[in-house]
Amino acid sequence: MDDLLPPEIAEVRAVVNRFMQREVNPVMTEIETSGRFPRQLVQRAGALGLYGSTFPESVGGSGMGYLAAAVVAEELARNDARFAACSNQQSSSCPNCIYAAGTPEQVMTYVPGLLAGETIGMMSLSEAGGGSDPVGHMKTIAVRDGDVYRLTGSKMWASMANETDVGVLFAMTDPSAGARGITGFIVEPKKYPGWEARPIAMLGLSKALRTNEVFLDDFVVPVENRLGDEGQGMQIVMAALQPGRVTVAAKALGVARACLDEAAAYAKTREMRGQPIGRFQMVQADIAEMTTAIEASTALVYHAAQHLDAGLPSNRICSIAKYHASQTAKLCADRAQQIHGGYGLAEEHRISWLRAYADMFFTGEGTANVQRILIANDTLGYKDADRHHGQTGLRNAAIDDIADELQRPS
Ligand SMILES: Cc1cc2nc3c(=O)[nH]c(=O)nc-3n(C[C@H](O)[C@H](O)[C@H](O)COP(=O)(O)OP(=O)(O)OC[C@H]3O[C@@H](n4cnc5c(N)ncnc54)[C@H](O)[C@@H]3O)c2cc1C
Repeated sequence: MDDLLPPEIAEVRAVVNRFMQREVNPVMTEIETSGRFPRQLVQRAGALGLYGSTFPESVGGSGMGYLAAAVVAEELARNDARFAACSNQQSSSCPNCIYAAGTPEQVMTYVPGLLAGETIGMMSLSEAGGGSDPVGHMKTIAVRDGDVYRLTGSKMWASMANETDVGVLFAMTDPSAGARGITGFIVEPKKYPGWEARPIAMLGLSKALRTNEVFLDDFVVPVENRLGDEGQGMQIVMAALQPGRVTVAAKALGVARACLDEAAAYAKTREMRGQPIGRFQMVQADIAEMTTAIEASTALVYHAAQHLDAGLPSNRICSIAKYHASQTAKLCADRAQQIHGGYGLAEEHRISWLRAYADMFFTGEGTANVQRILIANDTLGYKDADRHHGQTGLRNAAIDDIADELQRPS
């Protein structure tokens, strides 16, 4: 597949692999044992430009685009899905929200640090009542009190919230207005009181890069940290998260590749009845199925990324790519575990925990069912998945360069 990619994108893949193989992979066991968040490695990844592909150079990005971002996400996850767990917060969901709706001052204050890996990001939309319908289940309230908002309630599944310096959090400013009552805020938990993040015990997922429940007790956000207007929150979520879905798909693809790498290596070395198990046709059938699914997902993920880079309507194709790649990851995790026999459940083999990441990508950033609903409604003509294309009035990091706005007199 790399033969068809521009040489600079193939070079990006090589940079990620060198970084992961020299600096991250050798220390991940120690990081997992200690449970310490690898802040310095996140900074190194930022310094190498691994978080800035879709952002213009004026805010610290490389402007390489979504195809480059997809390849970075894929290779990070193929090498170590646990380390890749925070890349969404550094390169996509959190800075995308700020870039899409922030004032030029907010963008310049917060986005460069996130892309450089110097500040740790977070994006918190989900609540305990149900992530698939965040509007219907949002109970966290933000009340304006002079120059600040006071936030009260609790958020669920806020990844990296126990480490974050600068995050984006959504809360209700007008509970009677439904989707139009949700507002986005740039939050700085280390500066203001009232924030408690409790890491959630997760089976198979990283013990150092965690997802959290967050309790907000009159947590303070200055008015100047409101993102966009009151009530614009869901518009920001849609504009910022939908393109990011392609990098989630790419991470699922990376997990699928890691499963195939492990399965193929094991099948060639594990011997049964005097020959490697890779010589058995039923094991070969599993390997063939994994290989074929990965090729199909690769084509879809890159195709979706190319749509985004061309500025074309991309919501439908990103959903298809995410749905397919997350199914491929689950298939590959399942088959790879079978090929490992009992050893597939032993912690010393990474296949034992790769399955948890495959499951996570199936659920996170819009579950498989949510993608299927979107795809089917589009196909049946009930709801065009790309009906909002170009109409949000918000910035798109891959297309608009905020440098123009900064130079324009206000
Ligand atoms: C490890 C991890 C990290 C995460 N990180 C973040 C984060 O950083 N920030 C954040 O905001 N969120 C995060 N999430 C939340 C994630 O986006 C949600 O888990 C996801 O949106 C699903 O929400 P839920 O878990 O409440 O499941 P639910 O919404 O309760 O869904 C349960 C089941 O019902 C199905 N379902 C729901 N509605 C329908 C429907 N209309 N038709 C058919 N089926 C339906 C779903 O597909 C699913 O199978 C994270 C989740 C995990 C597990």
